[in-house]
Amino acid sequence: MKKSICLFALTVLTVGCGVQQENPLLREWEAPFETPPFDEIKNEHFMPAFLDAMEAEKAEVDAIADSDEEPTFKNTLEALEESGEQLDRVSRVFGCLNSANTNDELQDISKEIAPLQAKHSDDINLNEELFARIKQIYEEKDSLGLNPEQHTLLENYYLGFVRSGANLNDEDKETLRGINEELSKLYVKFRQNHLKQTNAIALVIDGEAGLAGLPDDVVQAAAETAKARGLEGKWAITLQKPSFIPFLMHSEKRNLREIVFKAYINRGNNDDEFDNKKLISRIAALRVRKANLLGYKTHADFVLERNMAKNPENVYKFLNDLWKPALRRAKTEVADMQAVINREGHDFKLQAWDWWYYAEKVKKEKYALDDAMLRPYFKMENVRKGSFDVAEKLYGVRFVKRHDIEVYHPDVEVFEVLEADGTHLGIFYSDYYPRDGKRSGAWSSSFRSQSNIDGDLITPLVFNVGNFAKPTADKPSLMSMDEVETLFHELGHGLNSLFANTVYSGSRRVPRDFVELPSQIMENWARDPAVLKTYALHYETGEPIPLELIDKLEKAKYFNQGFRTVEYLAASFLDMDWHVLTDATEQDAAKLETESMDKIGLIAEIESRYQSTNFGHIFSSGGYSSGYYSYIWAAVLDADAFEAFKEAGLFDRELAASFRKNVLSKGSNDTMAQYVRFRGSEPKVDALLKRRGLD
Ligand SMILES: [Zn+2]
Repeated sequence: MKKSICLFALTVLTVGCGVQQENPLLREWEAPFETPPFDEIKNEHFMPAFLDAMEAEKAEVDAIADSDEEPTFKNTLEALEESGEQLDRVSRVFGCLNSANTNDELQDISKEIAPLQAKHSDDINLNEELFARIKQIYEEKDSLGLNPEQHTLLENYYLGFVRSGANLNDEDKETLRGINEELSKLYVKFRQNHLKQTNAIALVIDGEAGLAGLPDDVVQAAAETAKARGLEGKWAITLQKPSFIPFLMHSEKRNLREIVFKAYINRGNNDDEFDNKKLISRIAALRVRKANLLGYKTHADFVLERNMAKNPENVYKFLNDLWKPALRRAKTEVADMQAVINREGHDFKLQAWDWWYYAEKVKKEKYALDDAMLRPYFKMENVRKGSFDVAEKLYGVRFVKRHDIEVYHPDVEVFEVLEADGTHLGIFYSDYYPRDGKRSGAWSSSFRSQSNIDGDLITPLVFNVGNFAKPTADKPSLMSMDEVETLFHELGHGLNSLFANTVYSGSRRVPRDFVELPSQIMENWARDPAVLKTYALHYETGEPIPLELIDKLEKAKYFNQGFRTVEYLAASFLDMDWHVLTDATEQDAAKLETESMDKIGLIAEIESRYQSTNFGHIFSSGGYSSGYYSYIWAAVLDADAFEAFKEAGLFDRELAASFRKNVLSKGSNDTMAQYVRFRGSEPKVDALLKRRGLD
């Protein structure tokens, strides 16, 4: 799956605006809406900007910590909230570029800066004077007359410090610093290995025989990829999804499908300089040590404490409840495909690299539907407009194209987002095509978060990044249904950031297993027949998608759901199994994975969606570790929430307003209560099972 979102950092930092003319990262930004001046930002600006910004923040935090005044909410919590602006902005611009448009130089900076950032965060989180002030305020919290948002902010800071080790003794603090520093380096190394291996060419086809079965646009894209890599006259399939998935769907060459598929699942597992096995074993071991230091049995216990799920037992129970019906369904899908193989007169057993190919055949046979019939209706520009229109119908907001805002790559486009009454809400950047400097997947994040301290309204700058089908020389970007859903999904995260409406950005901590609700709910509109016919317009004729095709899509909606659910759940179990380790010795990564998959009885025809060595969600940062289950946890919420729209009307403005107010615009430390305010009751799993045909 897609999806990662940069969560709102709790202890994001610091300082005012030291005006330094020469470095565009440190200077006031004068462009419209104070957007980043990408035309001026050069690689060499980052390192000095990081160093200056960290120093500025340190000075500011020290001033708070060392103040002679009695600690108050205002001189401590609010002061912390207002600090770190410069570092926040440098980190966010750097983070965006290093993920979406990186190069060797940026990667070197990232290697150098990661341990310094880890140390800098620890200097703040382990600052005893600062913590003593926060603790004093926290202990007096009920007598301070704080409003609910201030309570949330205070709790977030207090728990953030405790969970970062503020209560440890000096010796343990030193140990923790060492672990954090080492982890920061390992994450960078994982990301860089992962990028190298994802950008590798899986297969070079030399001669037309190797193209059997491939539709023209797949052939053309492969030719362009080869040309861009200096292999003119040949065809290249890479491990980026828009390249290899269509190949797996259509190639008649079973041996070539096997090569491509194995190259994909073996990323990070080739016993070469980019191998991740040792590295992830080390990460997992360090996580156990860290959890133990902080008083938790396992890393998962540590992480889940602040999620809706609360503990590993609840996650396992939830996953197990879904596993059986999903596996049962997947086995019937295998049988359907094996029947096709047998009927074609072959005598082989379906293998994992055959799945896409035979699934397409079954889909064609059962539903008279295939990927190639749909793509002409999913031109990127139309799909994006469709997603904007959904936002407008629900919330009244409009997306207006801007040409006066600088971007970091020509593929990036910029929109101003306006309320129904024309009030400026924020800026939205879209960046949808794969390139070598971009990591795989899709994500949403921002260059700046909303806040409104003392009436100083800061509006958000949000971006969505994807890896969707690229335009070719003679065709625009024509997306698959999956990509369409991903685009809507990321816009959902984007709206979550754009609709933020709080005084303090630090009060909007959203648990990992709640944050996919705003995104996933948007996918429901993407595939709704009434919405499809408004945006799925043929790229040549402009004709809306025929009703007959919508009907077929509707009928095929349970198609392959066994597979999708099983490969996803397998990865979720794998994530959990890595993080319920109680033993801080380094594991044999391959063995752990095999045992994990054997334990759940994963069938040979399906591989986990990610293998340990390429599981970026859980090993490229702390991000989704013990949290990959979140997508399906949140799917229970989004299926249930969308039922409310089905009952009230797809675009019921009153219900949308309640969703915006209760779910999208605020944070709280009781997300279930937030949800219930919107829905009237807690979610039931029924809607999800029904939607996937697993009931
Ligand atoms: Zn997401």
